[in-house]
Amino acid sequence: MNSLLLNTDGVQVPQLGFGVWQVPSDEAERVVTTALEIGYRHVDTASAYENEEGVGRAVRASGIPREKLFVTTKLFNPDHGRAEAAFDESLSRLGLDYVDLYLIHWPLPKHGTYVQAWRGLEKIYRQGRAKAIGVSNFTIETLTRVIDEADITPSINQIELHPYFQQRQLREFHEANGILTEAWSPLGQGQGLLGDPALTVLSEKYGKTPAQIVLRWHIQLGNVVIPKSVTPARIKENFEVFDFVLDTEDMAAIGALNTADGRIGPDPDTFHWMG
Ligand code: NAD
Repeated sequence: MNSLLLNTDGVQVPQLGFGVWQVPSDEAERVVTTALEIGYRHVDTASAYENEEGVGRAVRASGIPREKLFVTTKLFNPDHGRAEAAFDESLSRLGLDYVDLYLIHWPLPKHGTYVQAWRGLEKIYRQGRAKAIGVSNFTIETLTRVIDEADITPSINQIELHPYFQQRQLREFHEANGILTEAWSPLGQGQGLLGDPALTVLSEKYGKTPAQIVLRWHIQLGNVVIPKSVTPARIKENFEVFDFVLDTEDMAAIGALNTADGRIGPDPDTFHWMG
């Protein structure tokens, strides 16, 4: 398993993680248990997913030493003004003493509260209760404001990213600022993307499934990826992406799949949902 170095104190993140959005808590406990048995060591949850309890139960029952695991959770939208209290609630639901990564889930630019929220995350980081802190769904504009006004640069920005929506400008901005790119919906939520003819061709060439080809593309770009599945065979399939390498021309062929309107999820500039 590859790991990438974050910009904070030598913390490393396993490049492939396991996402649990839209998985109810009891089911999350089962699927995270399966993922950890398969070999995943990185789990991505959020307060908004309402499954931190199940994730925490699976992590604690796994028997894997805590320091070998990487657990991420996120500050939900209504909690920008109470980051420390919301973090305590997440830790208590997880039943853990610390998380490896704590993210602001959405910037909510019209509310203008994300710098205040980031100050809260800086305090949590200084207390050692989050080994690293970062953001999610931030744009160049919102990231720039955090970098300019706060003390710590976010270690990661978790954003929608898949072959139909490649976010090149934002990835370049991350690279220039030492921020890792983490891809959410890395498989495009498994919809039309995985049936794309270009991926079928590569699937045949490498003897790998379209999902594995897409995950390998992310890995070779240097993205952290957190595919989600509740099907054990797919959870395993998504983990088996470290035994082959895509040629430069095939990376370029996937690069050519980008579209102007490939976004599946909400636009961070206009998403102000409060749950
Ligand atoms: P995804 O791209 O991981 O797709 C998941 C879906 O793809 C599954 O439900 C299944 O239908 C299909 N799938 C999975 N493996 C497959 C395989 N091997 N073959 C065929 N189909 C397969 O989408 P996602 O769940 O939206 O994103 C992954 C994770 O990213 C989430 O679980 C969550 O942790 C995170 N996320 C974060 C945000 C955010 O705002 N920060 C938003 C969305 C998702």
